[in-house]
Amino acid sequence: MSNNDRTEDVVIIGSGPAGWTAAIYAARARLEPLVFEGAPSREMIPGGQLMFTTEVENYPGFPEGVDGQTLMLDMRAQAERFDTRIITEDIVEVDTSTRPFLLRSSEGQEVRARTVIVATGARANWLGLENEQRLAQSGGGVSACAVCDGALPAFRDQVLAVVGGGDSAMEEAVYLSKFASEVVIIHRRDTFRASPIMAERALDNPKIRVEWNTIVTDVLGDDFVTGLRLQDTVTGEEREMEVGGFFLAIGHTPNTAFLKDVVEMDDTGYIVTPTPWRTETTVEGIFAAGDVMDSYYRQAVTAAGTGCMAALEAERYLAHGGGASPSAAEVPAEPVAAAES
Ligand code: NAP
Repeated sequence: MSNNDRTEDVVIIGSGPAGWTAAIYAARARLEPLVFEGAPSREMIPGGQLMFTTEVENYPGFPEGVDGQTLMLDMRAQAERFDTRIITEDIVEVDTSTRPFLLRSSEGQEVRARTVIVATGARANWLGLENEQRLAQSGGGVSACAVCDGALPAFRDQVLAVVGGGDSAMEEAVYLSKFASEVVIIHRRDTFRASPIMAERALDNPKIRVEWNTIVTDVLGDDFVTGLRLQDTVTGEEREMEVGGFFLAIGHTPNTAFLKDVVEMDDTGYIVTPTPWRTETTVEGIFAAGDVMDSYYRQAVTAAGTGCMAALEAERYLAHGGGASPSAAEVPAEPVAAAES
């Protein structure tokens, strides 16, 4: 089923800070972007990871902090104000064998696009425990982002647990040690995967201790986490530990399965953007922004920044005649000036 005969200049896939910022810039440049904001599922809802965050205190411009959902809904409204069109479906396939590209949605819509901005983000890995999910979604002291949530008053002077043994776990434990009375790293093996320098920094911190060979089998607490049920992986022995906050640092998975064999990805599935400070991918006309191409910073503000970059690059690509079908005649000689504020 074809959506319509129109060929879109810019289709944006994803609706986190990267997607909405790309939409705002593309819309103000009169490219009339079409955003596929994603279909709600158990794991993800339109708006992305920030929809699961209670208070965002490090997004500039909000001296009192801002609720994650409010921030995302406001970004969406800002994009709509400039006539961004929004479809609440996933894109499940991008066919690059034809130009313009042919995109297929989860409901079977087909859309042709001269450029595509992929901003589908990444999702934090979770242990998959029922109480972990319940407390994470209700703001009950369970989080997969210490940098986002760790400084909240509820975690001050508490015993905080971090699960994981990679660089993220080390970094998050050191970060949390600024606020916590004690940080306990829970790791399933007896050696860290983290780089020696990061591990050393954590192990040398007097506020941090490690529970080796230990897994979390349950998260305790009704409205807010009060403890963890742990199991020793060597002896099988079970016990409980009281905590006032629980942070997961067991890696992230980028939402790129639908682009397999379309654009180049690294071996963990992040989209490769080969040129430094550019968002273009290995396929001309496809740009990537936000956590889907950034395993390093993973912040709302950096995602928004790369969303802006992707829209400007798409605009310039189109202005140079990129994405034109073979019969297209008029190609502007000069790039259109970026529509800045
Ligand atoms: P990671 O290196 O993949 O480490 C994930 C950790 O979580 C591992 O220790 C793993 O245990 C553990 N884990 C995975 N699944 C688990 C489960 N179901 N139950 C319990 N534990 C589980 O991920 P990351 O730490 O997020 O790092 C990702 C990448 O970003 C790395 O390349 C890292 O170097 C980089 N990074 C760099 C910095 C920095 O340089 N400042 C900071 C953060 C991240 P096992 O070890 O047993 O597999």
